[in-house]
Amino acid sequence: MSKKVRVRFAPSPTGPLHIGGVRTALFNYLFAKKHGGDFILRIEDTDQNRYVEGAEQYIIDSLNWCGIPFDEGIGKDGGHGPYRQSERKSIYKKYADELIKNGKAYYAFDSSESLDAHRKNHEEKGKTFIYNWHNRLKLDNSLSLMPEEVQQRLDNGDEFVIRFLNPPDEKLELTDIIRGSIQIDTNVLDDKVLFKSDGMPTYHLANVVDDHLMEITHVIRGEEWLPSLALHKQLYDAFGWDSPEFAHLPLIMKPIGKGKLSKRDGEKLGFPVFPLSWNESVGYKEEGYFPEAVVNFLALLGWNPGTEQELFSLDELVAAFSLERVNKSGARFDPEKTKWYNQHYLQQTPDVELAKSFLPIVKEQITNESYVNIEYVTKVVALIKERAVFVSDFWELSDYFFVAPKEYNEKATKKQLKEDTADIMNDLIATIKTIKDFSSENTETLVKAWIAEKELSFGKVMPPLRLFLVGDMKGPHIFDIMSMIGREESISRIETALNKLG
Ligand code: GLU
Repeated sequence: MSKKVRVRFAPSPTGPLHIGGVRTALFNYLFAKKHGGDFILRIEDTDQNRYVEGAEQYIIDSLNWCGIPFDEGIGKDGGHGPYRQSERKSIYKKYADELIKNGKAYYAFDSSESLDAHRKNHEEKGKTFIYNWHNRLKLDNSLSLMPEEVQQRLDNGDEFVIRFLNPPDEKLELTDIIRGSIQIDTNVLDDKVLFKSDGMPTYHLANVVDDHLMEITHVIRGEEWLPSLALHKQLYDAFGWDSPEFAHLPLIMKPIGKGKLSKRDGEKLGFPVFPLSWNESVGYKEEGYFPEAVVNFLALLGWNPGTEQELFSLDELVAAFSLERVNKSGARFDPEKTKWYNQHYLQQTPDVELAKSFLPIVKEQITNESYVNIEYVTKVVALIKERAVFVSDFWELSDYFFVAPKEYNEKATKKQLKEDTADIMNDLIATIKTIKDFSSENTETLVKAWIAEKELSFGKVMPPLRLFLVGDMKGPHIFDIMSMIGREESISRIETALNKLG
């Protein structure tokens, strides 16, 4: 690769970015960084009817949250701006005109009513209407009309579109880095509209012109754009420009493996499909995912490192990534696997960082000052995080570190409460009262010594003790819990349980 690599992510701001879009952005980012290139964000907003307020900012916020910011784009001028197509409007017309001049495109005056009528007519005969070599001379355009009439219509200000003049009987040889070579017979292609009656270019023209002007070297985008590749390649040729290389990424499939992953799948199965929340749809961020987890699982949707490795930091992804290792076939989305990734990244996060996120949740639950502080909460986090997938799991896993149990697991109560339990526990209270150094280790040593001395079995002491302190049979090492809540609280909980459970 001699030229500096420049790739772009070119979303249309028609709504929130789907995670499939984030994956496209990520693969662009990884490819750019791997080759020391630039990652450009271009907003393709030529279709004003589909413009959604806030979508552009959402896209930018999403990339930033994922930690894959663009190098060049809105607010980051790299000398190839503007980066919003609506602000480049004046650029495109001259390229459309150039194609007309060179005989590669033509004016078409057909009204939408007449095109609809053709379509309907074809449908009734079980056919599909395609505007191309087959019928273009029978339609209302600068190929079928006399030049004078064309000029007159243009002078009159009649509405027109500019269509690409697709040559018949050509075999196009297209190359895609992921899919290899693709042959297309131009007879199946239609004369796509390049320039619309509203004075705006269509996606195809704007996309190709901008990729050229922005010196894009590699176009990495979703498979849904593969059918556009033929036209895009033809446009580069028509302009006499070198075309970039293309890579069309496989679709992300529903968890069942068939069909494209949709927003509705997320709603039905209860997992996010957006990076950030958008109206009622909860995003990965708000659901409690770490951006590192999202980036990691997205990277492995359609790409594989060729090894068994599944956990990758962003730097590791940059180092390992290659388009040659992107699969052709769709990548099945597995919502359970995303949790597995999050659990991993949660374990990697320093306890104090997790505690900072957990502290506000604790504050909502209790006011007790001796517990609502970062030191205590950090210690709690260290003891319980192992079982958590999200910070939002913490309270349920650790409530007994903050509040005495209000009820006791019924099944466990039945099983653990024996005739002699009250006597043993009262005796244990007496022992606990004598323990000065209430650290976990010391308490454990002394309680175990007392058990040995009294010739009690562990089963008679430890399970009821846990039930009384926690209200359930869950939780980490019981002496860690005792040491954390303190001697007075431990005693009080045992007494309360004895009173309540009779
Ligand atoms: N604007 C197109 C989109 O919304 C861009 C496709 C492309 O990357 O060429 O995905």
